[in-house]
Amino acid sequence: MKASQVKAYVKYVQIGFWKRLIICSILVASITLFTAFNIPLVKLFSSIVMLVSAELFIYCYYPLFASQIRFTFRNKGIEQPLPNELAILSRKMKLRIDGMKVIPNLCNAYVWGKQFFMGDELLRKLSMEQIKAVGAHEFWHIKEKHRFIQIIYILPIMICLYFSWYNMNPIIIDLGLFAYMMIALAPIQWWFEKRADHAAVRYVGKDAIKTALLALEDNQNLDEPSETHPPTNLRLKWIDESEN
Ligand SMILES: [Zn+2]
Repeated sequence: MKASQVKAYVKYVQIGFWKRLIICSILVASITLFTAFNIPLVKLFSSIVMLVSAELFIYCYYPLFASQIRFTFRNKGIEQPLPNELAILSRKMKLRIDGMKVIPNLCNAYVWGKQFFMGDELLRKLSMEQIKAVGAHEFWHIKEKHRFIQIIYILPIMICLYFSWYNMNPIIIDLGLFAYMMIALAPIQWWFEKRADHAAVRYVGKDAIKTALLALEDNQNLDEPSETHPPTNLRLKWIDESEN
């Protein structure tokens, strides 16, 4: 099987974002229903729904989690000095960035701690102006402490859910908590993406971030959102509407 055929197959069997969200909601609702009522018929009904939605949940998210784990352990990245333009940008944003790591075979960028990670494919594809726009977007996530806010926002609800489901099977609890996280974090993650895109517009310009986003998506899936990102077309619309 060729790589393109594998890609086409994965796309074919993939369940779209909105359907994934429905599966997550049904899983969370069925666990809550099961634990909330002691009526045998409700228990029977909710346990069937729970098992089916848990299966579908694993089917939807297993590839994502597996690739994430593989990525975390395999890709250490090659340390590189931060390009001068990015160092100037970070100073302009009143931010300290410790360095940059280039990840092989990746067409994406992200920040972790005070480090900027960039895929080598993206680095090859983008112009310096576009790299700066991606940098400004990622740096804004650090500037506004988006990851920290997400944890503060989600943790109390997760703890409450854990204790209200405590007599369930631990695997079901974990799946339910993950499912809940997918639903609850999506709106806040989308909002953070919007804020980071607007920061890129302010610091670098509309054209640079718009063309960088299109290069990142390779002109595919422009209307398909994910749990972490709004659809590219919607981001482009928000960027157009933003003030320079
Ligand atoms: Zn982002």
